[in-house]
Amino acid sequence: MTTHTYDGRALINGARVHARDGQTFDCISPVDGRLLTSVARCGQADVDAAVAAARAAFEDRRWCGLAPAARKRVMIRFADQLSAHADELALMETLDMGKPIQYARSVDVNSAANCLRWYGEAVDKIYDEIAPTASTALALIQREPMGVVGVIVPWNYPMIMAAWKIAPALAAGNSVVLKPSEKSPLTALRLAELALEAGIPPGVFNVVPGYGVEAGSPLALHMDVDCIAFTGSTRVGKQIHVMAGQSNLKRAWTELGGKSPNIVFADCPDLDKAVQAAVGSIFFNQGESCNAPSRLFVEAGIRDQFLEKALALVPGYAPANPLAPDTVMGAIVDQTQMNSVLRYIELGKQEGAALLAGGEQALVDTGGCYVQPTIFAGVTPDMTIAREEIFGPVLSVLSFTDAADVVKQANASVYGLQAAVWSRDINKAMGVARALRAGTVHVNQYDEDDITVPFGGYKQSGVGRDKSLHAFDKYTEMKTTWIRIDSPV
Ligand code: NAD
Repeated sequence: MTTHTYDGRALINGARVHARDGQTFDCISPVDGRLLTSVARCGQADVDAAVAAARAAFEDRRWCGLAPAARKRVMIRFADQLSAHADELALMETLDMGKPIQYARSVDVNSAANCLRWYGEAVDKIYDEIAPTASTALALIQREPMGVVGVIVPWNYPMIMAAWKIAPALAAGNSVVLKPSEKSPLTALRLAELALEAGIPPGVFNVVPGYGVEAGSPLALHMDVDCIAFTGSTRVGKQIHVMAGQSNLKRAWTELGGKSPNIVFADCPDLDKAVQAAVGSIFFNQGESCNAPSRLFVEAGIRDQFLEKALALVPGYAPANPLAPDTVMGAIVDQTQMNSVLRYIELGKQEGAALLAGGEQALVDTGGCYVQPTIFAGVTPDMTIAREEIFGPVLSVLSFTDAADVVKQANASVYGLQAAVWSRDINKAMGVARALRAGTVHVNQYDEDDITVPFGGYKQSGVGRDKSLHAFDKYTEMKTTWIRIDSPV
Protein backbone atom coordinates (compact mmCIF):
# COMPACT_ATOMS: atom_id res chain seq x y z
CA MET A 1 0.00 0.00 0.00
CA THR A 2 1.51 3.34 -1.03
CA THR A 3 -0.46 5.74 1.11
CA HIS A 4 2.66 7.75 1.97
CA THR A 5 2.63 9.13 -1.56
CA TYR A 6 -0.76 10.84 -1.16
CA ASP A 7 -0.40 14.47 -2.09
CA GLY A 8 -2.50 16.75 0.12
CA ARG A 9 -1.63 20.03 -1.59
CA ALA A 10 -4.33 22.21 -3.11
CA LEU A 11 -4.76 22.34 -6.89
CA ILE A 12 -4.97 25.91 -8.15
CA ASN A 13 -4.54 27.10 -11.73
CA GLY A 14 -3.33 23.70 -12.88
CA ALA A 15 -0.61 23.28 -10.23
CA ARG A 16 -0.31 21.49 -6.91
CA VAL A 17 0.42 24.16 -4.27
CA HIS A 18 0.76 24.46 -0.52
CA ALA A 19 -1.60 26.77 1.36
CA ARG A 20 -0.28 30.34 1.01
CA ASP A 21 0.54 30.47 4.73
CA GLY A 22 1.96 26.92 4.74
CA GLN A 23 -0.66 25.59 7.15
CA THR A 24 -1.74 21.94 6.98
CA PHE A 25 -4.09 19.60 8.80
CA ASP A 26 -3.75 15.88 9.43
CA CYS A 27 -5.74 13.45 7.30
CA ILE A 28 -6.46 10.50 9.61
CA SER A 29 -7.95 7.22 8.41
CA PRO A 30 -11.03 6.02 10.35
CA VAL A 31 -10.10 2.48 9.31
CA ASP A 32 -7.37 2.23 11.94
CA GLY A 33 -6.45 5.75 13.06
CA ARG A 34 -3.35 5.96 10.87
CA LEU A 35 -2.09 9.29 9.55
CA LEU A 36 -2.60 9.23 5.77
CA THR A 37 -0.97 12.54 4.87
CA SER A 38 -1.06 16.22 5.73
CA VAL A 39 -3.38 18.37 3.68
CA ALA A 40 -3.20 22.06 2.71
CA ARG A 41 -5.31 24.05 5.16
CA CYS A 42 -6.59 26.62 2.71
CA GLY A 43 -7.94 29.98 3.78
CA GLN A 44 -9.04 33.29 2.30
CA ALA A 45 -5.82 33.87 0.31
CA ASP A 46 -5.99 30.43 -1.30
CA VAL A 47 -9.67 30.81 -2.13
CA ASP A 48 -8.91 34.23 -3.64
CA ALA A 49 -6.17 32.69 -5.80
CA ALA A 50 -8.43 29.84 -6.92
CA VAL A 51 -11.31 32.16 -7.75
CA ALA A 52 -8.97 34.49 -9.65
CA ALA A 53 -7.66 31.53 -11.68
CA ALA A 54 -11.21 30.35 -12.36
CA ARG A 55 -12.29 33.85 -13.38
CA ALA A 56 -9.31 34.30 -15.72
CA ALA A 57 -10.09 30.95 -17.36
CA PHE A 58 -13.70 31.98 -17.84
CA GLU A 59 -12.86 35.42 -19.21
CA ASP A 60 -10.39 34.21 -21.84
CA ARG A 61 -12.91 31.51 -22.83
CA ARG A 62 -10.34 28.70 -22.86
CA TRP A 63 -13.13 26.30 -21.79
CA CYS A 64 -16.50 27.98 -22.20
CA GLY A 65 -15.44 29.10 -25.69
CA LEU A 66 -15.10 25.54 -26.91
CA ALA A 67 -17.94 24.05 -28.93
CA PRO A 68 -20.15 21.81 -26.78
CA ALA A 69 -18.98 18.80 -28.80
CA ALA A 70 -15.37 19.63 -27.90
CA ARG A 71 -16.19 19.95 -24.19
CA LYS A 72 -18.05 16.68 -24.48
CA ARG A 73 -14.96 14.86 -25.70
CA VAL A 74 -12.90 16.18 -22.79
CA MET A 75 -15.58 15.34 -20.21
CA ILE A 76 -15.73 11.79 -21.53
CA ARG A 77 -11.93 11.52 -21.32
CA PHE A 78 -12.21 12.80 -17.73
CA ALA A 79 -14.74 10.04 -16.99
CA ASP A 80 -12.47 7.49 -18.65
CA GLN A 81 -9.61 8.65 -16.42
CA LEU A 82 -11.68 7.84 -13.34
CA SER A 83 -12.47 4.41 -14.69
CA ALA A 84 -8.81 3.81 -15.54
CA HIS A 85 -7.80 4.76 -11.98
CA ALA A 86 -10.71 3.02 -10.29
CA ASP A 87 -8.64 0.83 -7.96
CA GLU A 88 -6.47 3.72 -6.84
CA LEU A 89 -9.47 6.01 -6.23
CA ALA A 90 -11.44 3.30 -4.40
CA LEU A 91 -8.54 2.59 -2.05
CA MET A 92 -8.08 6.30 -1.38
CA GLU A 93 -11.78 6.78 -0.64
CA THR A 94 -11.90 3.78 1.68
CA LEU A 95 -8.82 4.82 3.63
CA ASP A 96 -10.00 8.42 3.86
CA MET A 97 -13.64 7.92 4.90
CA GLY A 98 -13.99 4.28 5.91
CA LYS A 99 -16.53 2.84 3.47
CA PRO A 100 -16.12 -0.80 2.33
CA ILE A 101 -13.77 -0.98 -0.60
CA GLN A 102 -16.14 -3.15 -2.63
CA TYR A 103 -18.66 -0.28 -2.63
CA ALA A 104 -16.04 2.44 -3.08
CA ARG A 105 -15.06 0.59 -6.25
CA SER A 106 -18.47 -0.57 -7.55
CA VAL A 107 -20.60 2.39 -6.43
CA ASP A 108 -18.55 5.52 -5.79
CA VAL A 109 -16.00 5.42 -8.61
CA ASN A 110 -18.46 4.05 -11.15
CA SER A 111 -21.23 6.54 -10.29
CA ALA A 112 -18.85 9.49 -10.38
CA ALA A 113 -17.43 8.40 -13.75
CA ASN A 114 -20.92 7.73 -15.12
CA CYS A 115 -22.06 11.17 -13.99
CA LEU A 116 -19.16 12.94 -15.75
CA ARG A 117 -19.76 10.89 -18.88
CA TRP A 118 -23.52 11.49 -18.88
CA TYR A 119 -23.30 15.30 -18.61
CA GLY A 120 -20.52 15.29 -21.19
CA GLU A 121 -22.70 13.25 -23.53
CA ALA A 122 -25.69 15.50 -22.91
CA VAL A 123 -24.14 18.87 -23.50
CA ASP A 124 -24.08 18.78 -27.32
CA LYS A 125 -27.64 17.47 -27.54
CA ILE A 126 -29.52 20.25 -25.81
CA TYR A 127 -31.15 22.92 -27.92
CA ASP A 128 -32.10 26.44 -26.90
CA GLU A 129 -35.48 28.00 -27.63
CA ILE A 130 -37.19 30.53 -29.83
CA ALA A 131 -40.23 32.14 -28.23
CA PRO A 132 -43.61 32.10 -30.05
CA THR A 133 -43.69 35.89 -30.48
CA ALA A 134 -45.21 37.95 -33.28
CA SER A 135 -43.39 37.75 -36.62
CA THR A 136 -42.01 41.29 -36.28
CA ALA A 137 -39.33 40.00 -33.94
CA LEU A 138 -37.29 36.98 -33.04
CA ALA A 139 -36.77 36.20 -29.37
CA LEU A 140 -33.94 33.78 -28.66
CA ILE A 141 -33.93 32.16 -25.22
CA GLN A 142 -30.48 30.83 -24.56
CA ARG A 143 -28.63 29.23 -21.71
CA GLU A 144 -25.17 30.61 -20.92
CA PRO A 145 -22.66 29.39 -18.34
CA MET A 146 -22.76 31.44 -15.14
CA GLY A 147 -19.03 31.96 -14.73
CA VAL A 148 -17.30 30.84 -11.54
CA VAL A 149 -19.11 28.11 -9.61
CA GLY A 150 -18.11 27.38 -6.01
CA VAL A 151 -18.81 23.83 -4.86
CA ILE A 152 -18.79 22.67 -1.22
CA VAL A 153 -19.37 18.97 -0.50
CA PRO A 154 -19.61 16.60 2.47
CA TRP A 155 -17.67 13.44 3.27
CA ASN A 156 -20.19 10.61 2.92
CA TYR A 157 -19.85 10.09 -0.86
CA PRO A 158 -16.97 12.45 -1.60
CA MET A 159 -16.53 11.65 -5.29
CA ILE A 160 -20.21 11.25 -6.13
CA MET A 161 -21.29 14.45 -4.37
CA ALA A 162 -18.53 16.35 -6.16
CA ALA A 163 -19.39 14.76 -9.52
CA TRP A 164 -23.09 15.62 -9.25
CA LYS A 165 -22.10 19.29 -9.21
CA ILE A 166 -18.87 19.60 -11.17
CA ALA A 167 -20.14 17.46 -14.07
CA PRO A 168 -23.06 19.70 -15.11
CA ALA A 169 -21.17 22.86 -14.09
CA LEU A 170 -18.10 22.02 -16.19
CA ALA A 171 -20.05 20.55 -19.10
CA ALA A 172 -22.05 23.79 -19.30
CA GLY A 173 -18.77 25.75 -19.61
CA ASN A 174 -18.27 27.15 -16.13
CA SER A 175 -15.06 27.31 -14.13
CA VAL A 176 -15.19 25.56 -10.75
CA VAL A 177 -13.61 25.96 -7.32
CA LEU A 178 -14.32 22.87 -5.21
CA LYS A 179 -13.93 22.68 -1.45
CA PRO A 180 -14.09 19.05 -0.30
CA SER A 181 -14.86 18.12 3.29
CA GLU A 182 -11.92 18.34 5.68
CA LYS A 183 -12.85 14.78 6.68
CA SER A 184 -12.34 13.34 3.15
CA PRO A 185 -10.28 15.67 0.95
CA LEU A 186 -8.08 13.23 -0.99
CA THR A 187 -10.15 11.97 -3.93
CA ALA A 188 -11.26 15.50 -4.89
CA LEU A 189 -7.61 16.51 -5.28
CA ARG A 190 -6.91 13.44 -7.38
CA LEU A 191 -10.00 14.10 -9.53
CA ALA A 192 -8.68 17.56 -10.36
CA GLU A 193 -5.36 16.04 -11.47
CA LEU A 194 -7.17 13.53 -13.65
CA ALA A 195 -9.25 16.36 -15.14
CA LEU A 196 -6.05 18.15 -16.17
CA GLU A 197 -4.69 14.98 -17.73
CA ALA A 198 -7.97 14.59 -19.62
CA GLY A 199 -7.58 18.06 -21.13
CA ILE A 200 -9.63 20.35 -18.88
CA PRO A 201 -7.52 23.51 -19.17
CA PRO A 202 -5.61 24.80 -16.11
CA GLY A 203 -7.66 27.18 -13.97
CA VAL A 204 -10.99 25.67 -15.00
CA PHE A 205 -11.20 23.17 -12.12
CA ASN A 206 -9.52 24.11 -8.84
CA VAL A 207 -9.63 22.36 -5.46
CA VAL A 208 -9.08 24.12 -2.12
CA PRO A 209 -9.13 21.68 0.81
CA GLY A 210 -9.69 23.08 4.29
CA TYR A 211 -12.16 23.66 7.08
CA GLY A 212 -15.67 24.96 6.55
CA VAL A 213 -15.26 28.31 8.23
CA GLU A 214 -11.74 28.92 6.85
CA ALA A 215 -12.14 27.80 3.21
CA GLY A 216 -15.88 27.20 2.73
CA SER A 217 -17.15 30.54 4.01
CA PRO A 218 -14.70 32.64 1.94
CA LEU A 219 -15.99 30.78 -1.13
CA ALA A 220 -19.66 31.29 -0.22
CA LEU A 221 -19.03 34.96 0.60
CA HIS A 222 -16.80 35.68 -2.40
CA MET A 223 -17.84 38.65 -4.50
CA ASP A 224 -16.46 37.07 -7.67
CA VAL A 225 -18.20 33.70 -7.36
CA ASP A 226 -21.42 33.56 -9.39
CA CYS A 227 -22.98 30.44 -7.94
CA ILE A 228 -22.47 28.28 -4.86
CA ALA A 229 -23.56 24.65 -4.93
CA PHE A 230 -23.57 23.03 -1.52
CA THR A 231 -24.25 19.56 -0.15
CA GLY A 232 -24.13 19.08 3.61
CA SER A 233 -26.08 19.67 6.78
CA THR A 234 -29.20 21.79 7.00
CA ARG A 235 -27.50 23.91 9.69
CA VAL A 236 -24.67 24.96 7.35
CA GLY A 237 -26.95 25.03 4.31
CA LYS A 238 -28.99 27.81 5.89
CA GLN A 239 -25.77 29.77 6.44
CA ILE A 240 -24.87 29.29 2.76
CA HIS A 241 -28.07 31.07 1.69
CA VAL A 242 -27.35 33.88 4.17
CA MET A 243 -23.78 34.22 2.86
CA ALA A 244 -25.04 34.35 -0.72
CA GLY A 245 -27.43 37.12 0.26
CA GLN A 246 -24.85 38.97 2.32
CA SER A 247 -22.38 39.08 -0.56
CA ASN A 248 -23.31 39.30 -4.24
CA LEU A 249 -26.59 37.37 -4.33
CA LYS A 250 -24.77 34.50 -6.02
CA ARG A 251 -27.08 31.66 -6.97
CA ALA A 252 -27.20 29.25 -4.03
CA TRP A 253 -28.22 25.60 -4.32
CA THR A 254 -28.35 23.32 -1.30
CA GLU A 255 -28.75 19.55 -0.93
CA LEU A 256 -29.24 19.01 2.80
CA GLY A 257 -30.25 16.52 5.47
CA GLY A 258 -33.03 13.96 5.69
CA LYS A 259 -35.02 11.78 8.05
CA SER A 260 -36.75 9.67 5.47
CA PRO A 261 -39.86 7.66 6.40
CA ASN A 262 -40.25 4.09 5.15
CA ILE A 263 -43.89 2.97 5.43
CA VAL A 264 -44.71 -0.74 5.26
CA PHE A 265 -48.38 -1.70 5.18
CA ALA A 266 -49.52 -5.19 6.13
CA ASP A 267 -50.39 -5.90 2.48
CA CYS A 268 -46.81 -5.29 1.39
CA PRO A 269 -46.29 -7.42 -1.75
CA ASP A 270 -43.00 -9.00 -0.67
CA LEU A 271 -42.18 -8.96 3.02
CA ASP A 272 -38.65 -10.35 2.65
CA LYS A 273 -37.80 -7.73 0.06
CA ALA A 274 -39.21 -4.97 2.28
CA VAL A 275 -37.19 -6.21 5.27
CA GLN A 276 -34.02 -6.43 3.18
CA ALA A 277 -34.57 -2.90 1.85
CA ALA A 278 -35.36 -1.45 5.28
CA VAL A 279 -32.26 -2.94 6.87
CA GLY A 280 -29.90 -2.76 3.90
CA SER A 281 -30.68 0.87 3.10
CA ILE A 282 -30.20 2.20 6.63
CA PHE A 283 -26.95 0.27 7.11
CA PHE A 284 -25.49 0.94 3.66
CA ASN A 285 -22.53 3.34 3.86
CA GLN A 286 -22.64 2.94 7.68
CA GLY A 287 -25.94 4.84 7.69
CA GLU A 288 -24.09 7.92 6.44
CA SER A 289 -26.53 8.59 3.60
CA CYS A 290 -28.74 11.66 3.41
CA ASN A 291 -31.55 9.53 1.96
CA ALA A 292 -31.25 6.63 4.44
CA PRO A 293 -34.75 5.45 5.47
CA SER A 294 -34.11 6.11 9.15
CA ARG A 295 -37.77 6.13 10.31
CA LEU A 296 -39.46 2.78 9.75
CA PHE A 297 -43.25 2.62 10.11
CA VAL A 298 -44.56 -0.98 10.12
CA GLU A 299 -48.28 -1.74 10.32
CA ALA A 300 -49.26 -3.58 13.49
CA GLY A 301 -50.40 -6.84 11.83
CA ILE A 302 -46.92 -7.63 10.46
CA ARG A 303 -44.72 -5.79 12.97
CA ASP A 304 -43.52 -8.78 15.02
CA GLN A 305 -42.78 -10.87 11.95
CA PHE A 306 -41.05 -7.93 10.26
CA LEU A 307 -38.82 -7.21 13.25
CA GLU A 308 -37.92 -10.86 13.67
CA LYS A 309 -36.79 -11.04 10.05
CA ALA A 310 -34.94 -7.71 10.38
CA LEU A 311 -33.06 -8.83 13.49
CA ALA A 312 -32.01 -12.02 11.72
CA LEU A 313 -30.27 -9.88 9.08
CA VAL A 314 -28.36 -7.66 11.53
CA PRO A 315 -25.36 -9.98 12.15
CA GLY A 316 -24.65 -9.83 8.41
CA TYR A 317 -23.93 -6.11 8.84
CA ALA A 318 -21.38 -6.45 11.63
CA PRO A 319 -18.63 -3.87 11.05
CA ALA A 320 -15.37 -5.24 9.69
CA ASN A 321 -12.17 -4.03 8.06
CA PRO A 322 -13.30 -1.88 5.09
CA LEU A 323 -10.28 -3.05 3.11
CA ALA A 324 -11.45 -6.68 3.21
CA PRO A 325 -13.18 -7.48 -0.09
CA ASP A 326 -16.44 -8.82 1.34
CA THR A 327 -17.03 -6.25 4.11
CA VAL A 328 -20.47 -4.60 3.94
CA MET A 329 -20.26 -2.25 6.96
CA GLY A 330 -17.10 -0.20 7.36
CA ALA A 331 -15.90 2.60 9.61
CA ILE A 332 -17.68 5.81 10.61
CA VAL A 333 -15.84 8.75 9.06
CA ASP A 334 -14.11 10.01 12.22
CA GLN A 335 -14.14 10.10 16.03
CA THR A 336 -16.39 13.16 16.15
CA GLN A 337 -19.07 11.57 13.99
CA MET A 338 -18.78 8.25 15.84
CA ASN A 339 -19.23 10.01 19.18
CA SER A 340 -22.24 11.87 17.79
CA VAL A 341 -23.86 8.58 16.70
CA LEU A 342 -23.15 6.99 20.10
CA ARG A 343 -24.65 10.03 21.84
CA TYR A 344 -27.88 9.60 19.83
CA ILE A 345 -27.96 5.93 20.83
CA GLU A 346 -27.67 6.98 24.49
CA LEU A 347 -30.50 9.48 24.01
CA GLY A 348 -32.65 6.75 22.48
CA LYS A 349 -32.14 4.60 25.55
CA GLN A 350 -32.69 7.48 27.97
CA GLU A 351 -35.89 8.61 26.26
CA GLY A 352 -37.36 5.12 26.54
CA ALA A 353 -36.96 3.45 23.15
CA ALA A 354 -36.38 -0.33 23.19
CA LEU A 355 -32.90 -1.27 21.98
CA LEU A 356 -33.34 -4.44 19.90
CA ALA A 357 -29.86 -4.70 18.38
CA GLY A 358 -26.42 -3.12 18.56
CA GLY A 359 -25.96 0.11 20.45
CA GLU A 360 -22.22 -0.11 21.07
CA GLN A 361 -18.95 0.96 19.59
CA ALA A 362 -17.23 -1.95 17.80
CA LEU A 363 -13.72 -3.09 16.86
CA VAL A 364 -12.23 -0.75 19.48
CA ASP A 365 -8.81 -2.47 19.34
CA THR A 366 -8.32 -1.48 15.70
CA GLY A 367 -7.92 2.20 16.62
CA GLY A 368 -10.63 2.93 14.02
CA CYS A 369 -14.20 4.25 14.35
CA TYR A 370 -16.87 1.54 14.26
CA VAL A 371 -20.46 1.36 15.52
CA GLN A 372 -22.66 -1.73 15.65
CA PRO A 373 -25.76 -1.75 13.43
CA THR A 374 -28.47 -0.59 15.81
CA ILE A 375 -32.26 -0.97 15.86
CA PHE A 376 -34.64 0.77 18.25
CA ALA A 377 -38.33 -0.20 18.47
CA GLY A 378 -41.07 1.54 20.42
CA VAL A 379 -39.88 4.90 19.12
CA THR A 380 -42.41 7.72 19.48
CA PRO A 381 -42.50 10.89 17.35
CA ASP A 382 -41.35 13.15 20.18
CA MET A 383 -38.08 11.24 20.77
CA THR A 384 -34.84 12.78 19.56
CA ILE A 385 -33.99 9.68 17.49
CA ALA A 386 -37.32 10.08 15.64
CA ARG A 387 -36.71 13.72 14.81
CA GLU A 388 -33.01 14.40 14.24
CA GLU A 389 -30.77 13.10 11.50
CA ILE A 390 -28.30 10.70 13.15
CA PHE A 391 -26.21 9.95 10.06
CA GLY A 392 -25.13 6.58 11.39
CA PRO A 393 -26.32 2.94 11.39
CA VAL A 394 -29.35 3.50 13.61
CA LEU A 395 -32.90 2.51 12.66
CA SER A 396 -35.90 3.88 14.56
CA VAL A 397 -39.10 1.80 14.35
CA LEU A 398 -42.38 3.66 14.93
CA SER A 399 -46.00 2.55 14.86
CA PHE A 400 -49.18 3.95 13.27
CA THR A 401 -52.89 3.34 13.14
CA ASP A 402 -53.93 3.92 9.50
CA ALA A 403 -52.88 5.56 6.23
CA ALA A 404 -53.93 9.04 7.31
CA ASP A 405 -52.06 8.72 10.60
CA VAL A 406 -48.84 7.49 8.98
CA VAL A 407 -48.85 10.23 6.35
CA LYS A 408 -49.27 12.81 9.10
CA GLN A 409 -46.40 11.34 11.10
CA ALA A 410 -44.18 10.90 8.05
CA ASN A 411 -44.68 14.52 7.03
CA ALA A 412 -44.15 15.83 10.58
CA SER A 413 -40.47 16.48 9.91
CA VAL A 414 -38.46 19.54 8.96
CA TYR A 415 -36.95 17.34 6.23
CA GLY A 416 -38.47 16.09 2.99
CA LEU A 417 -35.74 14.32 1.06
CA GLN A 418 -37.09 10.83 0.36
CA ALA A 419 -39.83 8.44 1.49
CA ALA A 420 -41.10 4.95 0.71
CA VAL A 421 -44.41 3.14 0.79
CA TRP A 422 -45.00 -0.62 0.52
CA SER A 423 -48.47 -1.95 -0.37
CA ARG A 424 -49.92 -4.16 -3.09
CA ASP A 425 -53.00 -1.91 -3.18
CA ILE A 426 -52.27 0.56 -5.99
CA ASN A 427 -54.79 3.06 -4.63
CA LYS A 428 -53.26 3.04 -1.17
CA ALA A 429 -49.67 3.08 -2.43
CA MET A 430 -50.23 5.92 -4.88
CA GLY A 431 -52.51 7.87 -2.55
CA VAL A 432 -49.87 7.81 0.17
CA ALA A 433 -47.05 8.50 -2.32
CA ARG A 434 -48.89 11.60 -3.47
CA ALA A 435 -49.48 12.83 0.06
CA LEU A 436 -45.85 12.45 1.15
CA ARG A 437 -43.90 15.71 1.12
CA ALA A 438 -40.60 14.45 -0.28
CA GLY A 439 -38.45 15.00 -3.36
CA THR A 440 -38.40 11.27 -4.12
CA VAL A 441 -40.94 8.63 -3.13
CA HIS A 442 -40.18 4.94 -3.58
CA VAL A 443 -43.03 2.46 -4.10
CA ASN A 444 -42.39 -1.20 -3.21
CA GLN A 445 -38.60 -0.77 -3.42
CA TYR A 446 -35.87 1.51 -2.08
CA ASP A 447 -33.00 0.84 -4.52
CA GLU A 448 -33.92 2.44 -7.80
CA ASP A 449 -31.53 5.19 -8.76
CA ASP A 450 -30.37 6.67 -12.01
CA ILE A 451 -28.44 9.71 -13.19
CA THR A 452 -31.48 10.59 -15.37
CA VAL A 453 -33.70 11.43 -12.36
CA PRO A 454 -33.55 14.54 -10.16
CA PHE A 455 -32.29 14.22 -6.59
CA GLY A 456 -33.14 16.72 -3.86
CA GLY A 457 -35.64 17.59 -1.24
CA TYR A 458 -38.71 19.46 -0.10
CA LYS A 459 -38.66 21.72 2.96
CA GLN A 460 -35.38 21.94 4.86
CA SER A 461 -33.79 19.18 2.79
CA GLY A 462 -32.61 21.89 0.45
CA VAL A 463 -33.14 24.07 -2.60
CA GLY A 464 -32.71 22.76 -6.14
CA ARG A 465 -32.03 19.34 -7.62
CA ASP A 466 -28.88 17.45 -8.51
CA LYS A 467 -28.72 14.93 -11.37
CA SER A 468 -30.82 14.78 -14.57
CA LEU A 469 -30.95 17.48 -17.24
CA HIS A 470 -32.61 19.78 -14.68
CA ALA A 471 -29.21 20.24 -13.00
CA PHE A 472 -28.06 22.31 -16.00
CA ASP A 473 -30.55 24.98 -14.89
CA LYS A 474 -28.49 25.52 -11.74
CA TYR A 475 -25.28 26.31 -13.59
CA THR A 476 -26.61 28.41 -16.45
CA GLU A 477 -28.21 31.82 -16.75
CA MET A 478 -31.13 32.32 -19.09
CA LYS A 479 -30.66 35.08 -21.64
CA THR A 480 -33.30 36.50 -23.97
CA THR A 481 -32.13 38.23 -27.13
CA TRP A 482 -34.75 40.24 -29.08
CA ILE A 483 -34.07 40.76 -32.75
CA ARG A 484 -36.26 43.21 -34.67
CA ILE A 485 -37.45 41.99 -38.06
CA ASP A 486 -38.69 44.74 -40.38
CA SER A 487 -39.49 42.43 -43.22
CA PRO A 488 -39.56 43.87 -46.76
CA VAL A 489 -41.83 41.03 -47.86
P1 NAD B 1 -21.51 19.81 7.02
O1 NAD B 1 -22.61 20.75 6.74
O2 NAD B 1 -20.91 19.80 8.35
O3 NAD B 1 -20.31 20.06 6.00
C1 NAD B 1 -20.50 20.04 4.61
C2 NAD B 1 -19.43 20.88 3.95
O4 NAD B 1 -19.62 22.23 4.36
C3 NAD B 1 -18.00 20.51 4.36
O5 NAD B 1 -17.16 20.65 3.25
C4 NAD B 1 -17.68 21.55 5.42
O6 NAD B 1 -16.31 21.83 5.54
C5 NAD B 1 -18.41 22.76 4.87
N1 NAD B 1 -18.74 23.78 5.88
C6 NAD B 1 -18.95 23.60 7.20
N2 NAD B 1 -19.19 24.79 7.80
C7 NAD B 1 -19.14 25.73 6.83
C8 NAD B 1 -19.32 27.13 6.80
N3 NAD B 1 -19.58 27.83 7.91
N4 NAD B 1 -19.21 27.78 5.62
C9 NAD B 1 -18.97 27.09 4.48
N5 NAD B 1 -18.77 25.77 4.44
C10 NAD B 1 -18.87 25.09 5.60
O7 NAD B 1 -22.06 18.37 6.62
P2 NAD B 1 -21.29 16.98 6.68
O8 NAD B 1 -21.26 16.53 8.10
O9 NAD B 1 -20.01 17.06 5.93
O10 NAD B 1 -22.26 16.06 5.82
C11 NAD B 1 -23.36 15.44 6.34
C12 NAD B 1 -24.63 16.17 5.92
O11 NAD B 1 -24.71 16.22 4.50
C13 NAD B 1 -25.86 15.44 6.37
O12 NAD B 1 -26.78 16.35 6.91
C14 NAD B 1 -26.41 14.84 5.09
O13 NAD B 1 -27.78 14.59 5.11
C15 NAD B 1 -26.03 15.86 4.10
N6 NAD B 1 -26.04 15.30 2.74
C16 NAD B 1 -27.06 15.64 1.89
C17 NAD B 1 -27.13 15.11 0.61
C18 NAD B 1 -28.24 15.47 -0.33
O14 NAD B 1 -28.09 15.26 -1.53
N7 NAD B 1 -29.36 16.01 0.13
C19 NAD B 1 -26.14 14.22 0.19
C20 NAD B 1 -25.12 13.89 1.08
C21 NAD B 1 -25.08 14.45 2.34
